[in-house]
Amino acid sequence: MNIKEVGEMPDRRSFRVDDLTGLLGREALLGCIEKLSDEDTCCLLCIDIDQLAALNEAMGLSAGDSLIVEVARRIARSAGPKDFLVRLDGDEFALLLDPNNNAFPLESMMASMVNDLSAPYLLSGREVFVSTSIGVAIGSHLLLQHAELAMVHAKKATRGGWLMYSSDMTRSHGDNFHLETELRQAVEAQQFQVYYQPKASCRTGVVTGFEALLRWNHPHRGIVPPSEFIPSLEKTGLIQRVGAWVLRTACAQLMEWRLNGYSDLHMAINLSLRQLADPDFPEQVSVVLREFEVPANRVELEITESMLMHDVQRAEMALRRLKGLGLHLSIDDFGTGYSSLSYLKRLPIDTIKVDRSFVQDITTDPNDASITRAIISMAHSLKLQVVAEGVETEAQIATLVAEQCETIQGYFISKPIPAVIATEFLASSWTIPPQLLGRPVKERTLLLVDDEESILMALKRLLRREGYRILCGKSGAEGLDLLAKNDVDVVISDQRMPSMTGEEFLRRAKELYPNTVRMVLSGFADMDSITNAINQGAIYKFINKPWDEKVLKDGIRDAFLRKERTDAHQRKVSAIATDNEHLHKDNQSLTAMLGEQSHTAMISQAALNLSQENLNMLPVPVMGLDPSGFVVLRNEAFFSLSIPPEACTDLIDKFPQVQNCDPFQLVCFDSNGKRWNVIARHLLLGKQHRGTVLAFIDDGMRVASC
Ligand code: C2E
Ligand code: MG
Ligand code: MG
Repeated sequence: MNIKEVGEMPDRRSFRVDDLTGLLGREALLGCIEKLSDEDTCCLLCIDIDQLAALNEAMGLSAGDSLIVEVARRIARSAGPKDFLVRLDGDEFALLLDPNNNAFPLESMMASMVNDLSAPYLLSGREVFVSTSIGVAIGSHLLLQHAELAMVHAKKATRGGWLMYSSDMTRSHGDNFHLETELRQAVEAQQFQVYYQPKASCRTGVVTGFEALLRWNHPHRGIVPPSEFIPSLEKTGLIQRVGAWVLRTACAQLMEWRLNGYSDLHMAINLSLRQLADPDFPEQVSVVLREFEVPANRVELEITESMLMHDVQRAEMALRRLKGLGLHLSIDDFGTGYSSLSYLKRLPIDTIKVDRSFVQDITTDPNDASITRAIISMAHSLKLQVVAEGVETEAQIATLVAEQCETIQGYFISKPIPAVIATEFLASSWTIPPQLLGRPVKERTLLLVDDEESILMALKRLLRREGYRILCGKSGAEGLDLLAKNDVDVVISDQRMPSMTGEEFLRRAKELYPNTVRMVLSGFADMDSITNAINQGAIYKFINKPWDEKVLKDGIRDAFLRKERTDAHQRKVSAIATDNEHLHKDNQSLTAMLGEQSHTAMISQAALNLSQENLNMLPVPVMGLDPSGFVVLRNEAFFSLSIPPEACTDLIDKFPQVQNCDPFQLVCFDSNGKRWNVIARHLLLGKQHRGTVLAFIDDGMRVASC
């Protein structure tokens, strides 16, 4: 396309050119602005299409693309021959006016441009009215920031108009400029920190991974949340540097956890628009993955819905490259943007994160409940997983579990926490309370075995406020009987009992119920046999009689925690086993399908060989063509003709199109000094042409039939 650019403007080969408009981008413009001295006075226009996302949504991407191209063309039409037009972002252009051209006043130029841009656009055969907002800045220092700021004000004030930058705008954004300076210093002084927020599976209840969330450790203000500084990092371009650091830090942390045995964990990392648009970003990611030996499928990149909708086509291309590395991709804050099902189907994503705003009122607001339900079922029908963000209450979890949401994240599990605390959190083996996962509540059950009634009574008294279900047996045999009838978590046994020692009883209990946690409580310790039993794993803890109340209570609490950790681990193992079983089944059915296909292929090949053999027996030369004119079969008699390939093509040209023609056609054909009558038999299936068989009859022969 013919969009004007100026003379001493940057070399196109040094910068990325936008595929759609053929224009250079932000970097090229910044390159130009950097060269301006303080004395230079330039005028820069920032032009933003007001409703591109809505138009994309309503009329489709190709209409959106046509609009972008047409807007660029109209701006160029209003511009002077040496003005420099760039495409800053999806829906934003900038026009740097030629400083040597003062031919006509800015006001009249703007009036004509606004007029031109507001005329209707013909998109997909329909007239569409679209407005643009224009910000204008004059000077050299911070030219682009000022023009963009004026554009933002223009958008707020009067859509479809233009506004000249004034220092009032900066004053109202004074804090922002101050913030930007501070952020630049923060990058240098390494004041950023990554916090981690856990996510848990609604199926097993266990923690499946973390999301890395950026924090600014401000020297005076303390920890600053990202909402207060990410937009400025984006605006200044610092986000690419900080984002790359977040990626490295989070992957290094994941490696550390993996080395400590948490090899199933996932790490989710938020991406910025600029990172997504950076063509070098996928390579950056694969370098980091290699460095920290982290498998790509353990890393999830989160892209907000609004980022996707900013420039769907470009986002789709970038996502495909990232998916190609094997990364997990998810759409963050889903439900707040304008994405439609058709985009989702097209994008290579794995997960949708339902925005916190829907989850918040899921148990009180029927609309939010319906939206969440619809998002979950739509995601499932597209084979996508669902993560619910901002889960804070048990009732929300129960609702989400009932709606078959796969994963939850939110303050209910934990706020975002620094790495050290996240490591402790992992070690605590936290799980979603089982009653919320739709499983029956399991009471903590404790079995006490002692031949002395008074001891049993004393223990029961001591533990009555601990909330345990307590069973009592007066001998090893009674203990085994109670174990058989009840789902016992922790067993405490006396050592010295008449018919069966505590050690023997616990050995049998271990054989029969290996998951129970077993403890000995005795004053007459036969240290040798008890040490043996401890070494063989039959006894978890030995507690002295008479007992210290605190030691005993703490010991029992620890034993229950240990049991619950083992149970959670087992649930995880069995979930993995179920997954593996499904995979195995899928594999088997794929193998069976492949086998069937190769069997069908063998039969077809055999049939083909047979017909070729039959054809070879015919004394008449025969050739077969597919509908596009390719030779697909020839019999032996045909080879004796030795017709050069060009002659074959000439021959094919002699037969007119099959449609509406007689299925039989006859033409004369000369080859190697000999004349042949060639009969063509067009093969039709209904009206569809499936090929042509040509039979060559020596001119001397009479044709009986074909
Ligand atoms: P996000 O990716 O949607 O992250 C979730 C946000 O919700 C986090 O806010 C988290 O602290 C908050 N949150 C989680 N659970 C709950 C809950 O139960 N209740 C409430 N009220 N809030 C909850 P945070 O950490 O302030 O981050 C805000 C946003 O900043 C993130 O939203 C993300 O879009 C962005 N962000 C954070 N770190 C990065 C980063 O490294 N790079 C980029 N580009 N963006 C980041
Ligand atoms: Mg996120
Ligand atoms: Mg989010």
